[in-house]
This record gives sequence, structure tokens and C-alpha cells, in this order.
Amino acid sequence: MADLWQDVKKSVDKLTTTINVKTKEVVQVSKVKKEIDELKSKMRSYFPALGELTYTMYSEENFDQEKLKEKCKVIATLEEQVKQKEKELKQVYRESQEARGKRFCPYCEAKISDDAKFCNQCGKSLPVKIETN
Ligand SMILES: [Zn+2]
Repeated sequence: MADLWQDVKKSVDKLTTTINVKTKEVVQVSKVKKEIDELKSKMRSYFPALGELTYTMYSEENFDQEKLKEKCKVIATLEEQVKQKEKELKQVYRESQEARGKRFCPYCEAKISDDAKFCNQCGKSLPVKIETN
């Protein structure tokens, strides 16, 4: 009897862990996605101003490249931040899947099966999985 209860408890624990990991993933994903959206809309808001500035310079026949570069740099910085956030998002997915027991190739990041000794994507030999429980 004791063993049966032990098993039930174990599977409940495992289920709880899965739910917690999934909830954490959902929360983090929506947070990062929101940040990406904000950065992108901020980026988009700079384009009309940049166009207007360019046209003003054109009509005044006074092209100030430095000034344009400066404005472009602001947009480029935002784009860089978006890329950073997208990387972060990938990382969140990955960590969440790893927490749920999924394995990834450390060389090419392909998803690999539990007992694989070699990556079927890049063919490199894989480290042995360490049992955590
Ligand atoms: Zn690989």
C-alpha cells in the first residue's frame, strides 16, 4: 500500500512541476512578447518622423547626413533590442522544455530524444543525461 501511495504522490509531484513550469513559461513568454511589441511599435513611430525630416531636408536643399544618421541609429538600437528580446524568448521556451525533461543538442540546439547518444542533426556525440530525480 505504501508503495502505491508513494507512486501517486510522485506522479502528482511531477504533474505539479509540469504545470508550474508551463505557467512560468506562459507568464515569461507573454511578458517578453509584450516588450517586443512595445519596442516594435516604438520603432514604427520613428519612421514617419524620419521621412518627414528627410523630405524637409530635400525641399530646403540642405541634406544633413549626420542628423539623419543620428535618427537612424535610434531605430537601429531599437531593432537590436528587439533581436535581443527574441533571443530571450527562444531561451524561455528552451529552458521551459528542458525543465520538462526535453533534451537539446548543445552544439546545434536541435531537439533530441532522451536516450540519444549522437545528435541526428549535426552528428556530434552528446553528453550523458544526468538524472535529477
Ligand atoms: Zn546537434
